[in-house]
Amino acid sequence: MSDKLPDLIDPLMLAERRSVLSGAINIAALERLSDVVAESDGYIEVEVVFGKEGKRPMVSGRIKTTLAIECQSCLLPMPWPLDIAFKLGIVSSIDEADRLEIDCEPLLFNGEKISLNGLIEDEILLALPDYPKHEYDCMIRRSSKNSDYDQQDSQPKADNPFSVLAKLKKTGE
Ligand SMILES: [Zn+2]
Repeated sequence: MSDKLPDLIDPLMLAERRSVLSGAINIAALERLSDVVAESDGYIEVEVVFGKEGKRPMVSGRIKTTLAIECQSCLLPMPWPLDIAFKLGIVSSIDEADRLEIDCEPLLFNGEKISLNGLIEDEILLALPDYPKHEYDCMIRRSSKNSDYDQQDSQPKADNPFSVLAKLKKTGE
């Protein structure tokens, strides 16, 4: 998983050649994503396939990683596994994007090389929820833990098993 991926690519040329790019991208290399995650070590597994559907040049691919993102309820980092499949039709204008005949998202390409890292980053950011939260109710669990603790603390000392033991010891003497 140490294959180096090129950053700047010409998707049309790669589609003509039916190229496949696969490798890993360090999370730290993606600035916008690094701002969102709680930890930016680790990497993203990427496979990108270029080709054509009919006359339409296409980019499709798969992105796999596990990010550490902050739960918006309890603010603790939590593992967030991602397995994203994407499919983009390469277009040269907004008009062409509107007329995209295949069921996929447009990728605007005006002849200037585009950033593969940026494309992968966009797909990941789109796949992340706005308010990521633990699947269980982490705040209720947290507050009930606290109230248990309070209860124990406010119990009268006589109920403490150690003081009962101490009493038994005394009577035995
Ligand atoms: Zn949480």
